[in-house]
Amino acid sequence: MNRAYILLGTNMGNKLAHLQMAIELMHLQNISLIQQSSIYKTAAWGNTDQDDFYNQVIEVATELSAEILLQTLLEIETKMGRTRNQKWEARIIDLDILYFNNEIIDTEKLKVPHPYLHVRRFTLIPLTEIAANYIHPIFNKTNSELLANCSDGSEVIKN
Ligand code: AMP
Repeated sequence: MNRAYILLGTNMGNKLAHLQMAIELMHLQNISLIQQSSIYKTAAWGNTDQDDFYNQVIEVATELSAEILLQTLLEIETKMGRTRNQKWEARIIDLDILYFNNEIIDTEKLKVPHPYLHVRRFTLIPLTEIAANYIHPIFNKTNSELLANCSDGSEVIKN
């Protein structure tokens, strides 16, 4: 059985419902919820002219490989109505794999640990809530240490 941490993000419509729906759709694809962080409110990155984001990190157990997990998450995004036009457009749901076991994966389609994990407070704060002592396999630092060293000044508020 594989363990993965997934970041969920949404900044459109009924955000709480979108987070819940994504977790339910994962469950239907044998991606089982083990733990979930609180939901955090974050100002939009990159394009600040957008609605705030709701972010949450979950830990899941799955028999799916990392590649199939990614494919399944992308299908869930599409099923929920996500379109990909501009890089920073408003989004119904965004699903990123943060960690997959303690593997390092670097292919064109999939990079794990997620390359921006350590530079974004909206990722590190919910991640640290549920996995403070989990060690990043490239930096050899815990999530708490990454958060303490993170220079991102953006506001992340527990909902
Ligand atoms: P975005 O919607 O901006 O998060 O980008 C999604 C794309 O990033 C997907 O099509 C993936 O192929 C690629 N990608 C690379 N690494 C990851 C990862 N760890 N989690 C999710 N998507 C990833």
